[in-house]
Formats: sequence, C-alpha cells, structure tokens
Amino acid sequence: MTTNRKVDYIIIGQGLAGSAVAVQLLRRGKKILVIDQPAKNNSSRIAAGLFNPITGKKMVKTWMADEVFPYLHQFYREVESVCKTSFFYPTPLYRPFISIEEQNEWMARSADVAFKSYVSEVFTHSTVPQVNDPDGGLVVQQCGYLNTTEYILSVRQWISREGTFLEEDFTEESLKIDTSHVEYNGWTAPRIIFCQGTRQSRWFEWIPIRPLKGETISISADVETAYVINRGVYIVPAGVNKHFRVGATYFFQDRSEVCTDLARRELEEKLGQLISFPFRVIGQDWGFRPTTPDRRPIMGQHPDLKPLAVFNGLGTKGVSLAPYFSDVLIRSLENSGTLNNAVDVSRYKSVYWSVPKIV
Ligand SMILES: Cc1cc2nc3c(=O)[nH]c(=O)nc-3n(C[C@H](O)[C@H](O)[C@H](O)COP(=O)(O)OP(=O)(O)OC[C@H]3O[C@@H](n4cnc5c(N)ncnc54)[C@H](O)[C@@H]3O)c2cc1C
Repeated sequence: MTTNRKVDYIIIGQGLAGSAVAVQLLRRGKKILVIDQPAKNNSSRIAAGLFNPITGKKMVKTWMADEVFPYLHQFYREVESVCKTSFFYPTPLYRPFISIEEQNEWMARSADVAFKSYVSEVFTHSTVPQVNDPDGGLVVQQCGYLNTTEYILSVRQWISREGTFLEEDFTEESLKIDTSHVEYNGWTAPRIIFCQGTRQSRWFEWIPIRPLKGETISISADVETAYVINRGVYIVPAGVNKHFRVGATYFFQDRSEVCTDLARRELEEKLGQLISFPFRVIGQDWGFRPTTPDRRPIMGQHPDLKPLAVFNGLGTKGVSLAPYFSDVLIRSLENSGTLNNAVDVSRYKSVYWSVPKIV
C-alpha cells in the first residue's frame, strides 16, 4: 500500500490512557489516527471510575495529589463541554472510622494544611444512616467518579470528528520504523504512542507491566446517598437508577479470565459490614490493571527508536493519573517540558539493554 495519509501522531489503544493522550493532542490542534480494538474486559471498561485523593488502609494523601486532582477536574469538565455529554460526577466521599483512635487522629489531621483542601468534615458520631459508622467518619472532597464507558465513547466520537478512528487490531508486522517517522498501512507519522494497557507491543515488552486482576460486583439497592461510600470496598453509582458498582478485589496470582466465587464472596462480605441497607447482586466483572513495580506510570520515548513512545502503567488509578500525565508526556514529546524521573520510561532502560533486541 502506498503512503498517502499523514498525521502528527498515531495512538494505539483507546482506554483511559489513549483517550487522555488523544484529548491532549486534539486540544493542541494535532492530526491523529487512533487504532483500538475494544474488548469487554479492558481495564478501562471494568473500572468503577472512582477518584479519591486519600486512599489505602492508612488513609494517606495519594502521590502528587496536589497537582493531579485539580488538573483532572478541569480536564474532564472540558471534555464534557467539548463533547456535550455527561460522564464526570464530582461527589464527596464518606469513609467511616474503624476506631476512636482513628477518629482522634483525623480530628488532628484535618487541621493540617496538607489535608485542608481534601477533608471537608469529620463526624465524631454516627451520621450517615446508610453506613455502619458508630465512630463517625470523614468526608473527603475532590472525589467522585467517572462513567468510563461514556467518557471513552465521547472521546471516540471527538476523535472521529476531528481525526481518524479505526476499530481494529493493530498489526505489529505492518509497522515500518524509520529514524524520523513510522509508516502503517498507508499512514505516516513522526510519532506513534503505545497505550495498550496489559497488552504489550514487542518494542515495549521490556517495560515491567504487571497485570493485577480485579473484580467488581454490580448491585441493586433501594437507596439514595449524597456520598460515594468507601472503606475496604467502595460503592459507586453505576449509571442506572438504584444500580451501583462495588469493588474491587486485588489478586496478583490469579490470571484466569473469569469471574470467581471467591471475589464475589469477599466483596459481598465487606459490603455487608460497611452498609446498613439490603442489596441484591445483579452482575460481576473482571479485568487486569496495568500496574508497575514502583506504582508509578511509565511514559516517554523508546531508548533506540525515537518515533516510538509509550504511555502505560496507570495501575489502580487510571482515572486520576491519565489527565495530568498525558499532558506531561505530550509536553515532553513536543519539547515544551521534561519528564519527571519518577515516570520516565528511561528508569527501566537497564532492563532494555539487558534483553536481546527486536527491531
Ligand atoms: C476491577 C477494576 C476496577 C478498577 N477501578 C478503578 C477505579 O475505580 N478508578 C481508577 O482510577 N482506576 C480503576 N481501575 C484501574 C483502571 O481501570 C486502569 O488504570 C486503566 O483502565 C488503565 O487504562 P489503559 O488505557 O492503560 O489500559 P486499557 O483499559 O487496557 O486500554 C488499552 C486499550 O488498548 C487496546 N489495545 C491494546 N493492544 C491493541 C492492539 N494491538 N490493537 C488494538 N487495540 C489494542 C485495548 O483493546 C484497550 O482498549 C480498575 C481496574 C480494574 C480491573
């Protein structure tokens, strides 16, 4: 096939990573070609879409929250406004305390300037009737959820309007790599960005993406709450009245591509402890998160093949990390910014140099 169609960037994959990269390029007026073959169990489709700056058993502020959270609010609102759709739902999050000690700790911490913009209230007694919260709880702000399916679909329509979207498998054998550009089935571009999640391309096989299986259940419950509820598990509205997504499990060892009874039981049990209302399980989903050993995303140019770049490793926090870091990546590729060492793919270049080269 002859090369006759030129774009500035080719993007492989349109999950949360590829969508954010596409948005960054479209808003800069770049010409793009996006190739994606969606599958039901892609991580981005399974995700409940929660974003929350205070996470984990120890309830700590997530890495780079002060940069990432203000950015994501602006980013998703802007995409909603361009696409004239709704998929972004900022909602306060309620996290019941597990003990009086934890309550005391948060009474002190909430006055700390580092937490002031995230903690809006500390309740010292049971306050939210839908939750088992005998010791009260914490209301966290700058949280909420993204309807990931709707968001990805909206971005896809934007790409189709202002660029090109191909719903098909990208075939590695068809990519020709030159020093200054790539060619693919008649398309030519100075850059190609791989945003493939746990499906790695042969040129980036050496980056340590570790699939982490997660499962969620869908429930139906006759309840309304002003909060996302989170402690051990989260409950997030699922886009249909009275339907909610509950998640998620973390099983590194499990590589099976099925829903398991073990996960369902774990989620039902934790949910039963957290909430005070009856529910009915109406569905279950599984997916693999693209995690990294140091829990930081991986991005930047290939060490040898300069037209090739990667954006991956969003792990358990794709919704919050993708907007800010897609901007960081595109600035660096456009020579208007540098990559932070913590996310630069070059931190793994010793792995690259130690494996046989496939070019
Ligand atoms: C159960 C579960 C719950 C989660 N909940 C949350 C949550 O609440 N909040 C949160 O922030 N994160 C959550 N996550 C994590 C989040 O889903 C990931 O961080 C994110 O989806 C990763 O996005 P990605 O675009 O890198 O990968 P993916 O979603 O896997 O997207 C990659 C895309 O590339 C395509 N692709 C790959 N190779 C090719 C090829 N050769 N040709 C064509 N297309 C290709 C795939 O088909 C896919 O569409 C959850 C994950 C799981 C599994």
